[in-house]
Amino acid sequence: MNTDLFINNEWRPAASGKRFPVVNPATEEVIAEVAAGDAGDVDNAVAAARTCFESDAWRNLSARKRGRLLAKAADLLEGRLEEIARLETAHNGKTLFESKIEITMTVNTLRYYAGWADKITGDTLPVDGPFLVYTLREPIGVVGAIVPWNFPLNIASWKFAPALAAGCTVVLKPASETPLTALAFAELVLEAGFPPGAFNVVTGGGSTAGAALVRHPDVDKISFTGSTEVGRQIMRMAAETNKRVTLELGGKSPNIIFADADLKAAVRGAQTGIFYGKGEVCAAGSRLLVERSVHDQVVEQLAEGAKKLTPGDPLDKNTRLGALVSKRQQETVLGYIKKGVAEGAALVAGGKAVSPPPNGKGYFVEATVFDQVSPEMTIAREEIFGPVLAVLSFDDFEQGVKLANQSMYGLAAGIWTKDIQKAHRAARAIRAGTVWINAYNFYDSGAPFGGFKASGFGRDLGKEALDGYTEVKTVWVGL
Ligand code: NAP
Ligand code: MG
Repeated sequence: MNTDLFINNEWRPAASGKRFPVVNPATEEVIAEVAAGDAGDVDNAVAAARTCFESDAWRNLSARKRGRLLAKAADLLEGRLEEIARLETAHNGKTLFESKIEITMTVNTLRYYAGWADKITGDTLPVDGPFLVYTLREPIGVVGAIVPWNFPLNIASWKFAPALAAGCTVVLKPASETPLTALAFAELVLEAGFPPGAFNVVTGGGSTAGAALVRHPDVDKISFTGSTEVGRQIMRMAAETNKRVTLELGGKSPNIIFADADLKAAVRGAQTGIFYGKGEVCAAGSRLLVERSVHDQVVEQLAEGAKKLTPGDPLDKNTRLGALVSKRQQETVLGYIKKGVAEGAALVAGGKAVSPPPNGKGYFVEATVFDQVSPEMTIAREEIFGPVLAVLSFDDFEQGVKLANQSMYGLAAGIWTKDIQKAHRAARAIRAGTVWINAYNFYDSGAPFGGFKASGFGRDLGKEALDGYTEVKTVWVGL
């Protein structure tokens, strides 16, 4: 496959000639050497995106035709689903089972925004006086998309699909651990017939290529998904050029089991909530809040389930727990586990690197459950981004909701109860961008996703995402 930068519909090595290795975290093998773009390459990509944005080829392309290009890209991606899912597994370590779900959602997202392209409209407004007043929704311009390694192509599509549908052009900077599926997708963009410069990919480091994109005076908007810390840096850098930003950041999402829940379903939901995607999921239900009267029962079932969930070869179709994305991430997660033990939480399942790993190599961590966690402990406060669950208990509704909101984050939450009034009351009281009731970890292109509080602002997905890629222009006509 192509491992150069994709700029103006051409494959180009980085100006510096430098490359960086991409490692398969399940085998520890270097699987590619990818171009290390930096500021000069970002300049070239932004210039291509700007020229395309201003050109007839894009500006005067009918919205319907833009939609058809996105739909074409969706069809091409669907045609290579298995291959691209394997590539996602190869650089990320997630199971093939999960990669197929991820790439299927990417196809859906492309189709969803293909459908929106010719339905982005303004309003006519009833103002006082002899005027006709209407609004136009115009594309914001050149969009820089900066994405993390956990759902590499999917999260990228949450940005480039609505941006392109709205008539923007895009420069995508994938995460250094996982640049390969963005490059594979660029091949499909070329094949679909997008004009040069509409979609560009600059691989490279966050503090080099990423920061150059954020600082660039000719980029109108940055759409970022990643850590809260880097999100804050991006806000500061973007201020210099009054850039618009959308930030999807970290989380420490509460999953609340009330005593009157269907406990079997709740335990299953708690498990997929934390172990799906190896827990490297921004909305992972990493704090399980259990009503005290059912606590023992729930923890017993959870520990049993976690012990059965053994990590394996991600390419094996039966594996449900893959390798963490990198050695560094494995070390970070093991560090948090150590802290949990040191601060007095009770380890009831897992807790170690898998030894020996499934095929003798790779960065695997056991499905881990801590009981008797208190809200002050590090593992109850900080995002671990690994397969580690912290169980806390509460005595009544008020205490449960209070505990749920006791976090700087507000990305998602789960509620398990058979009482519909309790469920909806809790959904209102919890400060989070997504609330699942008797479900966890479901996503759809049509359902907006994003955070409250330190989990960011702006929304991906749904019609709400389009607002982040358009400017509103108000036109007054004197009658
Ligand atoms: P990260 O370190 O914040 O990196 C995210 C992206 O930003 C990467 O492409 C990274 O490039 C780039 N970057 C790093 N420093 C930068 C800088 N100074 N300027 C511009 N770009 C920069 O996050 P990560 O470690 O990849 O991912 C894990 C985090 O993402 C977790 O905290 C998780 O919660 C969050 N996340 C949130 C969501 C959501 O929807 N809310 C979804 C997924 C993940 P390099 O890879 O080259 O460093
Ligand atoms: Mg990083």
